[in-house]
Amino acid sequence: MSTESNRILLKHHLEKLRLPTVRREWEAVAASSAKDGRDYGDFLFALTERELIEREQRAAGRRIKSAKFPVIKNLEDFDFGAQSSINETLVRQLAAGEYLEGRENVLLIGNSGTGKTHLASALGFIACAQGRRVRFWSATTLVTHMLEMREQRDLKRFFAQMGKHDLILLDELGYVPFSKAGAELLFEVISQAYERLSLIVTTNLPFEQWTEVMGSERLTGALLDRLTHRVHIIEANGESYRLKDARKRYGNTKREEGTAPGTPRRPPGSSASRE
Ligand code: ADP
Ligand code: MG
Repeated sequence: MSTESNRILLKHHLEKLRLPTVRREWEAVAASSAKDGRDYGDFLFALTERELIEREQRAAGRRIKSAKFPVIKNLEDFDFGAQSSINETLVRQLAAGEYLEGRENVLLIGNSGTGKTHLASALGFIACAQGRRVRFWSATTLVTHMLEMREQRDLKRFFAQMGKHDLILLDELGYVPFSKAGAELLFEVISQAYERLSLIVTTNLPFEQWTEVMGSERLTGALLDRLTHRVHIIEANGESYRLKDARKRYGNTKREEGTAPGTPRRPPGSSASRE
């Protein structure tokens, strides 16, 4: 560059224009362009492409952070061979993200340790990378949070926030029964999400037991009706991965029988997965 003052001004301009990658890399790209005899157009193209790629990566990073995943889980780390009850084709089809376009839901049902939370988080993570706004909630934490928001007369704000998302994950529904007010708020979430955004729910509960957690049969019926209208169901009924892992580590090869509950049944009238 011709003068040091221009160099300083350029740095300033790039800051003002919010082009941190260009600011950081223009000299290196300029040097390699000059060396390879590339023209100004190619130079500018290479530089702006880097800026765009990094900008997208930063945005995805922000979406992942604001999704508040308890642990980051990847689909690549999931061993489908270890859990043969899970429909791998369906999971991979969901990873393409089309269900989000159609505001369809995903329900992962099965006993503990079978990878439901892992798969839900992995799908959430992929959705963030695909430009979707995602939020992970443990079902109980969500209900507690909403009860507090209601106390502060702030539920409207909560639902407005919720409406900005493309995907909400509700993890471990069914481990703890809800109070009447809690169940009603959960119903409200599912109701508001219906046809507006996608839900991924993980649960250990076969459908016939949902009333025990929600309290009211009427509310459970209405909730399942909305949740399962357009739903993809992933059943995970194998052995706990944690248990298997621990057994492998401690060299105990004895099989434990009878740990898996019965296969969950679909509620009457619900549309099954499009598989
Ligand atoms: P669930 O939600 O069904 O109780 P998790 O998803 O929490 O089970 O799985 C328990 C642990 O085992 C997690 O650390 C998860 O990453 C791991 N895990 C479960 N299934 C698999 C699998 N098939 N391949 C790799 N890791 C698995
Ligand atoms: Mg779980």
